[in-house]
Amino acid sequence: MRKNIVAGNWKMNLDMNESHKLVQNILDNLIAVKTEVIIAPAFIHLNKIKELVSNTNIHVAAQDCSANNMGAFTGEVSAKMISSYNIDYVIIGHSERRLNFNESNELLLTKINQALKYKLDIIFCCGENIDHRQKGSYFELIEKQLSETVFRLSSKEISNITIAYEPIWAIGTGQTASVDQAQEMHSFIRNLFERKYGFKISNNISILYGGSCNSSNSKDLFSCEDVDGGLIGGASLKFDDFVKIINSF
Ligand code: PEP
Repeated sequence: MRKNIVAGNWKMNLDMNESHKLVQNILDNLIAVKTEVIIAPAFIHLNKIKELVSNTNIHVAAQDCSANNMGAFTGEVSAKMISSYNIDYVIIGHSERRLNFNESNELLLTKINQALKYKLDIIFCCGENIDHRQKGSYFELIEKQLSETVFRLSSKEISNITIAYEPIWAIGTGQTASVDQAQEMHSFIRNLFERKYGFKISNNISILYGGSCNSSNSKDLFSCEDVDGGLIGGASLKFDDFVKIINSF
């Protein structure tokens, strides 16, 4: 069943007290939520945040996981560890991981398989940079990012995947994709899923938009037929903005 989802990616922001306060403010202000809500704090906060939302409908996501199962990988956190804290989701393939940590499609596929092995749902990110957008090669790029990763999965495995389309030129820049640009790409992605897995799966997959989505543009973006919610960075750090975005549905 296709779900509407609003996920907040806190990135490397908020200390212990700030993160607890933000969750409490979100909980205090959410009423009659019509969408699935996910919070993705830094690893160190995951367990406590999971505890704070334990009697609510809010889900918790890790922002990444290791491509390795276990062993001598200093600083890494495995999917098995994340899963052992009953965390629901993991974000894989965020452009900041791809760019700043040289994560290739091949590595991301290994991470996806680790996450699936430990029964984590995955928010898989794809998105083109400004050069691909300006040259008009963005469809090919997105198709390649998906073909070399999630499209290697079986029809059964793909049900654990949510896609986040995040044009890099829109992330943290204040320059949001237009409603037409977002719908065009989301529909393209859904068609790729239909070609690969058939109508039922393509119709059920949630495709989120990410990139300077905020409380002023979320309603318009989420009203697009193929936009099933958002992966929100900066605006998820302010509880009133985040709650407004959640209430855009
Ligand atoms: C993100 O990094 O996933 C993101 C969408 O960031 P922002 O909303 O700040 O552009």
